Amino acid sequence: MSLKVGIPRALLYYYYFPQWAAFFNHLGVQVVVSRETTRGLLEKGLRSTVDEACLPVKLAVGHVLDLRDRVDYIFLPRLVSMARREYICPKFLGFPDMVRNTIDGIGPLIDCNLDLYRKNSSQYDFFYAVGKMFTRNPVKIRRAYHASLEALRRHCLAMESGALAGETAPETTPAHQNRTGEARAGDVNVAVIGHPYNLYDRFISMNLIKRLKENGANVLTAEQLPEQMARREAQRLPKKLFWTLNQRMIGAAYHYFERPDVHGVIHVASFGCGPDSMTGELIERYARKWSRKPLLILTLDEHTGEAGMVTRLEAFLDMVRWRRNLADAAAATTTKIIAKKAEETTGAPDTSTGVFAAK
Ligand code: SF4
Repeated sequence: MSLKVGIPRALLYYYYFPQWAAFFNHLGVQVVVSRETTRGLLEKGLRSTVDEACLPVKLAVGHVLDLRDRVDYIFLPRLVSMARREYICPKFLGFPDMVRNTIDGIGPLIDCNLDLYRKNSSQYDFFYAVGKMFTRNPVKIRRAYHASLEALRRHCLAMESGALAGETAPETTPAHQNRTGEARAGDVNVAVIGHPYNLYDRFISMNLIKRLKENGANVLTAEQLPEQMARREAQRLPKKLFWTLNQRMIGAAYHYFERPDVHGVIHVASFGCGPDSMTGELIERYARKWSRKPLLILTLDEHTGEAGMVTRLEAFLDMVRWRRNLADAAAATTTKIIAKKAEETTGAPDTSTGVFAAK
């Protein structure tokens, strides 16, 4: 019987699950994912963590508890840095220790270090350390590693296509996604900026993305931008942000504020999250200074009420449509004035604007 490794459906599961699953499957290890978030699962996490922890960490503890008695190992990598000269939030670094010290009877954890901060550090070292726990065959580990990179590449393409936008869990992503994603059916485009572990967890986000779609909005997220593009956009900051994930969010927010086909932006933050409060402030300042697009800031915590969020979303979408209509009317008036002036100057109708051609 093959060994079972549990992966909590929380935190970076929403970025890396396909890669991790492909790696373990190629080593002949069975992967078990914790169940979808429910109120009961969240409450278990709340009871076992300190009040100061942010909501996603409390929830992740609930998911670990869900796996505790069902698997041989729980995969909780100690994530220090995901990119050169950058760190990620320290809560990821301390998470395995928090679990070990707060959950009684927790079984063996796979908590190898992933630290890509230095130039000569490599992701392979991390996977090799994990693989060694299951096989002594380095060739098998290397093959599993390459399969995991390919799975991650496909997952990133799926995320860029928008196919994951809140509707599809990473483990059910089709292997070959259409890069153009689903057809846009709504009448306004709204960018939703937040951590994937908040946005794509339907319980925590209270189905935010689905609700927006049901109310006629097309949703764009940070994951739909290629990483390099988001990084380039984030370079507008006078000083580089330390945290990889928030840097991507800032870059995406700047990009969507500038895009003429995006009509509004929502920033989803976690209560108790230091990086999110800094990101939210930067996004808000940018919106005030450089953009006339409506911005909504939603902060999620364990007490956030669904009714309140629905009311705010509806009011926000009303504002987005009102602004969009105003902008459309102003653009139409400007076009007419230009056409009229051209006619007065030349004595002939200017068909280049399309105003006369459309009549
Ligand atoms: S970035 Fe914020 S929400 Fe995410 S783990 Fe860190 S403190 Fe929690």
